[in-house]
Amino acid sequence: MRNTVDIVGVKVDNVTIIDAVIRTEDFLDGESTNLIFTPNSEILLDAVKEPSFAKILNSGDLVVPDGIGVVIASKFYNVPIKERVAGYDLMRKLIEIAYHKKKSIYLLGGKEGVAEEAAEKIREEYYGINIVGMHNGYFGDAEETLIINEIKDLKPDVVFVALGAPKQEIWINEHKHLIPAKIIMGVGGSLDVIAGRVKRAPEFFQKAGLEWFYRLIKEPKRFFRVLRLPKFIILAFYDAKTR
Ligand code: UDP
Repeated sequence: MRNTVDIVGVKVDNVTIIDAVIRTEDFLDGESTNLIFTPNSEILLDAVKEPSFAKILNSGDLVVPDGIGVVIASKFYNVPIKERVAGYDLMRKLIEIAYHKKKSIYLLGGKEGVAEEAAEKIREEYYGINIVGMHNGYFGDAEETLIINEIKDLKPDVVFVALGAPKQEIWINEHKHLIPAKIIMGVGGSLDVIAGRVKRAPEFFQKAGLEWFYRLIKEPKRFFRVLRLPKFIILAFYDAKTR
């Protein structure tokens, strides 16, 4: 039984990273295809604006609260979420589980060369890990058919899709029936981080719920994106009060 909180119309799992890891292990041992999404405040704001996007997020089998804004918002609904589960952290755990369970992985997304660099880093850490294929995230329709056919042939157990939100969720929704994987997970810019092209905030900022602040200092052009955090908090507050 899932324990979810409906935040602005999207059902988010009230899980810790450990709960989420256990769920992914079950997914890998099962038969069906499971979708993992990792919404933060920005993604939930997009879902409010675009109901079809909310519907896609609600089709997820595991929807983790990737952001301090989501954790704060859950309190307005009187169902406080246990902790923030960063998509990046869950992805790292899933890679480790795949390694131990000898499951195969496909990496899709990022600029030319990023998936290869990320694969190299993962292989350095997990010697012998089965990364069966990869492709960058900039492709046209013809190339997309080739990618899908490749994934069908390679039959990876886990497909990480790093096209950024909402593109990756829409892509996953459109192609999930063609991909015979146990897990398809949207991972945003995580391949850039694994490849070492983008740095995550130091742990202090992460633990204090200030990762957004660190990213703002590093990339001041994110200012208008960061403003969406208080906007989301206010929207969630009113949504919770009017239920
Ligand atoms: N990306 C891609 N194809 C696209 C658009 C984006 O592969 O058509 C990749 C981009 O290279 C980056 C990631 O998607 O690696 C988006 O990262 P961002 O940090 O913006 O996503 P977030 O984690 O905020 O969703």
